[in-house]
Amino acid sequence: MKFIKRLVYAVQMGWRHRQQLREIYQQTQARQLYQLSPEYLKQRGIQVLVLDFDGVLAAHGDILPTRECQTWLQHCVETFGASQIFILSNKPLPLRMAYFATDFAGVRCIAGVRKKPYPDGLQQIMTLTECLPQQILLADDRLLTGILAGCIAQVQVSYITRPYVQLRNRPLQESFFMALRVSERFLIQLL
Ligand SMILES: [Mg+2]
Repeated sequence: MKFIKRLVYAVQMGWRHRQQLREIYQQTQARQLYQLSPEYLKQRGIQVLVLDFDGVLAAHGDILPTRECQTWLQHCVETFGASQIFILSNKPLPLRMAYFATDFAGVRCIAGVRKKPYPDGLQQIMTLTECLPQQILLADDRLLTGILAGCIAQVQVSYITRPYVQLRNRPLQESFFMALRVSERFLIQLL
């Protein structure tokens, strides 16, 4: 039932924000997360980073971010401060949260909120940081979940078009998500 409600919400909000979603897709520059320069983001006025996990920091279901993302995260911690970085995943697995608690102390994982595209997680981050939406950047690899949540909450977004995929290890799951990504891109162009 929750899933159906979320789907209906995504369709309604996707339609309302279709123009913005299309522009984000067409103007996207960051294919992968580590291509975003923390210094450049800071110069642009970004103070808070909100990162999706699956596809963005690692392949679906992985526990640890990839090596390059770990290095990039360290760079972000030095640039923004750990308290300004959040993980907002629809799958806040306990093992992942434990990893951040030990290896990236101060980086917070948001859990217990309604899943994206609901903007609840982003709104909680705004309350916690007392930052304006335009000072927050969300990086996500899904147009109709994360990026849509970003449009609803009116934060800055970065659409990751080259997500991490491990077809060999999880062929069914990865094919499913690849199909989802292609369909939502197709849909956005069509609307
Ligand atoms: Mg994702």
